[in-house]
Amino acid sequence: MLKDVFRSCREKLRNGGIENADFEAQCIIEAVTGFGRAALIAHGDKPVSDEHKQRINSFTKKRLTRYPLQYILGKWSFMGLPLFVGDGVLIPRDDTEVCVGLCLEYLKGKSGAKAVDLCSGSGAIAIALEKLGNADLTAIELSDKAFYFLEKNISLNKSKVTAIKNDILSCHGEFPDNSLDLIVSNPPYIKKSDLRGLQPEVQFEPKMALDGGESGFDFYKAIILGWSRKLKPGGALVFELGENQAEHVAELMKQNGFQGIRTELDFGGCERAIIGIRN
Ligand code: GLN
Repeated sequence: MLKDVFRSCREKLRNGGIENADFEAQCIIEAVTGFGRAALIAHGDKPVSDEHKQRINSFTKKRLTRYPLQYILGKWSFMGLPLFVGDGVLIPRDDTEVCVGLCLEYLKGKSGAKAVDLCSGSGAIAIALEKLGNADLTAIELSDKAFYFLEKNISLNKSKVTAIKNDILSCHGEFPDNSLDLIVSNPPYIKKSDLRGLQPEVQFEPKMALDGGESGFDFYKAIILGWSRKLKPGGALVFELGENQAEHVAELMKQNGFQGIRTELDFGGCERAIIGIRN
């Protein structure tokens, strides 16, 4: 019966040290059988086919290796938008809503603003801004694997985002100066020496999306130096930030002609995003 299969999945996850075993078991059951939380309660005595049982078992086993739940499910949602995720692309985090929130505030009343999302990954930020902020978005991503998901997510959401496969460290020359209203990025920002200490799940995610160099600031510096002039005067630069990076990034922005610099906290009280306006 459905409820027995659910309980057994939950127990295996729990015994394997998975924190949100109840929630994760629900996700696995739903991905395989189509029965969500409510259906589990209402139809708990429904039979489960052998094929479904096998898939649930293999998903559970895979999860016990600490392989991320989101990769197993193949789909995850960000700000209510469905996104395909899998090996080779960074999983969208709830923290990133803070960064999108700062952009949406800036975009208010500016329909059709020209915006670029650098290191776009799954396209979470770009697609959210195009849908919720009515902006004209270009998403730039270098990794082949991530780009595959970016394009799939643009079609999945019937989004008008333009995807470009290129290296943000060098392709700024292709954008005219003073042409953009907004540049946003959730760049790789983890210090190289901190990478090995991250959760086991994160070890399955692409290093390229996480590794911010020895100091963690490599991409902030490169983006500020390479891209600032592409903004119109009055245009905004918005970054997601790693822990304790706000002060240094704010200083870099100030030194490079940004004003009105402001940070926003995440739910954990950490300065998670920053905005500055080009002079
Ligand atoms: N938020 C991610 C983490 O802490 C890092 C993402 C990034 O480097 N941009 O795992």
